[in-house]
Amino acid sequence: MGKLNWLGEFEDPKVEKAFQCEKWPSVRGRLLFLYFITIASYIGGAYSDFFDLGAGDGFKMLFSARTTVCMFGFFAFLLLLANRLKHNTQYVLMFLSMFLFILVESLELWVKFSVVGSLSVPATVFMVLAYYILLPPRVVYSLFAGLCGSSLYLFTLATLVPVTTGTFANSALYFFFANAFGIFFLATFGVSLRREYAARSDLEKLIKYDELTGAYSRRRVLEAGNNIFKSSRRFNNSLTVLMMDIDNFKKVNDDYGHHAGDEVLRETSRRCRSVLREVDHFGRLGGEEFVIILPQSNLHQGIRVAERLRNKVCESGISIGGSKLPVSISIGAAEMRSHDDFSKLLQDADVQLYRAKKCGRNQVSPPALRLIGSRRLKISFIPEQRNEQKEL
Ligand code: GH3
Ligand code: MG
Ligand code: MG
Repeated sequence: MGKLNWLGEFEDPKVEKAFQCEKWPSVRGRLLFLYFITIASYIGGAYSDFFDLGAGDGFKMLFSARTTVCMFGFFAFLLLLANRLKHNTQYVLMFLSMFLFILVESLELWVKFSVVGSLSVPATVFMVLAYYILLPPRVVYSLFAGLCGSSLYLFTLATLVPVTTGTFANSALYFFFANAFGIFFLATFGVSLRREYAARSDLEKLIKYDELTGAYSRRRVLEAGNNIFKSSRRFNNSLTVLMMDIDNFKKVNDDYGHHAGDEVLRETSRRCRSVLREVDHFGRLGGEEFVIILPQSNLHQGIRVAERLRNKVCESGISIGGSKLPVSISIGAAEMRSHDDFSKLLQDADVQLYRAKKCGRNQVSPPALRLIGSRRLKISFIPEQRNEQKEL
């Protein structure tokens, strides 16, 4: 998933979007800081204007421009603080305020040039650098802010202000360095952020999903089981758990090789997931054993699901190297009753699975027929016959 394009962003737009969304809170914090610093420096700028220009027309013009831009910046700051707008709209507002800020810097240059020379160049250079440092991981946006901001300022410098060619070249050099450092920073910082994100996502995926079958991992399905057990008990909902095991799987490995065994595991898992509801949980406990959690389902419904699973897996053989391999599964079902916790419920399903195996495999235990009376007869579980295969 971690492939990056030439901009150093994820090639897959969905992954890039997820990454941006995850990083938004920190970008937002940095943007708030950027607004705050810029507004504060503009207010400070008015103070220096007064000393440079006195209370004349130049000062008044600059002051009103500064006030307008600061108000716009403050408005954008508040909207960002409220965080109600879409991310892109917030970025657009930021660009607008940036352009306004740079326009005022240019105006300052124009008004004060005869008094203080090209003093606002370093301030604008710092601002360009800030957009590189504070905006990542939005590479394109940082580039846009940095390059457009610099060009706008240099354009004003070249057209509105009577600077010498040497001063202009010097200023252009400052902007060149600011952008070069910024792009270098983006390329290294943005890429390492994305690499770290990709590694973490892969790790999370490994923890949550079984790599071979795509089913939930043992850890995740047991965690989900514990939570569903507690909420079902709390809200008096029914809950049924199925334990499923592929029959004679060792023989598949022995006769056709591990690769074929893996394919059987994958296809069985795919078929099972295709018949389950979205709210059901399907996880691999280990080897060829799976657990299925069916919230808000009683034993009767659970057995119907189990039969559906069994039929789906058995309905046609699994293709291995051109031939179709018949595969069957056995399933044990147990409904939550007076169990202390999820593991006890799982143990009962396991006992039923053991029964299904003992009765000849390729079946569900307890069988649907027996259940008609057993709902009232109360199914007797046989703990002494617990399958010793698992330690849950
Ligand atoms: P039963 O019908 O009683 O369940 O018999 P079985 O052969 O299915 O069960 P057994 O426990 O004897 O064999 C399970 C086999 O599953 C043994 C092990 O090598 C194999 N196995 C476990 N994990 C994997 C895996 O990830 N891939 C493959 N190919 N085989 C696996
Ligand atoms: Mg088996
Ligand atoms: Mg087994």
